[in-house]
Amino acid sequence: MTAQIIDGKAFAARLRTRIATQVQALAGQGITPGLAVVLLGEDPASQVYVRSKGRMTREVGMASFEHRLPQQTSQQELLDLIQKLNDDPAVHGILVQLPLPSHMDEGAVINAITPEKDVDGFHILNVGRLATGQRAMVPCTPLGCLMLLRDHLGSLAGRNAVVIGRSNIVGKPMAQLLLRDSATVTIAHSRTEDLPALCRRADILVAAVGRPAFVKGDWIKPGATVIDVGINRTEDGLVGDVDHEGASQVAGAFTPVPGGVGPMTIACLLANTLTATARIHGLPDPDGLTP
Ligand code: NDP
Repeated sequence: MTAQIIDGKAFAARLRTRIATQVQALAGQGITPGLAVVLLGEDPASQVYVRSKGRMTREVGMASFEHRLPQQTSQQELLDLIQKLNDDPAVHGILVQLPLPSHMDEGAVINAITPEKDVDGFHILNVGRLATGQRAMVPCTPLGCLMLLRDHLGSLAGRNAVVIGRSNIVGKPMAQLLLRDSATVTIAHSRTEDLPALCRRADILVAAVGRPAFVKGDWIKPGATVIDVGINRTEDGLVGDVDHEGASQVAGAFTPVPGGVGPMTIACLLANTLTATARIHGLPDPDGLTP
């Protein structure tokens, strides 16, 4: 069997086009969605992310506000800036680029963002709303994975899903979204016993581990759909968490790295900004951008 490749790059491009059309429609009502991104320090990878987020925000017709602060900024200064952005009617989405410098309390900073503008979906209220099936802002990477899975498989109901990784930004919200779509979900982590056997039962396998080519071909159930969230920088360039050569022999379909989940994450950030804008203005949620 040769697995089908799930082209996240192409899907994300189509999603951005749809978002741009909806942004144009809002312009007719005098509304321009605005996304504020806050970056502390000089971390090169974070700078690249922030630059490309700004460029794509402008490309879909939204306003982009970038706030670059020095590494030694005090937590109070950052909280003051967040308060200003919370109060600014031109700003509909606020993203504080993580990780934060070690002198900051990440939870306190994230929870200072008003939940309605929390386009990363990390605020404790949004986490609770997602877990209890209420209208939430949903973290971008798992939302992007869900969109790819639904597009590829249609209904996820009754399928066995295994998520490897239990982080707050990927693993846990991914499991919540799969559960919400009535998949039967298992979350695996570093203490899981006999992970290969567990994975072999998965119709849907999501790998969010952070270890290059960790999931081997013989861990994959024949015909399974494999979503590789991993982004690992190695001497051979960017590598996912799944051994793609192995996966391509066994899986039904899988997402490549690069060109799979990565582009979906930024597209879903724009989707969340549009959703936040609609909700703040009392409009219905935009079509197809929420779970
Ligand atoms: P974390 O480091 O926060 O979490 C990794 C998870 O993997 C943990 O739950 C850990 O378990 C688990 N794990 C580690 N080793 C093993 C093992 N041997 N067996 C089973 N489970 C294991 O990472 P993130 O969730 O933040 O990110 C995961 C990957 O996804 C990274 O490569 C990251 O770069 C990438 N990523 C990609 C994004 C994208 O846009 N494509 C966005 C965000 C992340 P335990 O909890 O027990 O320690």
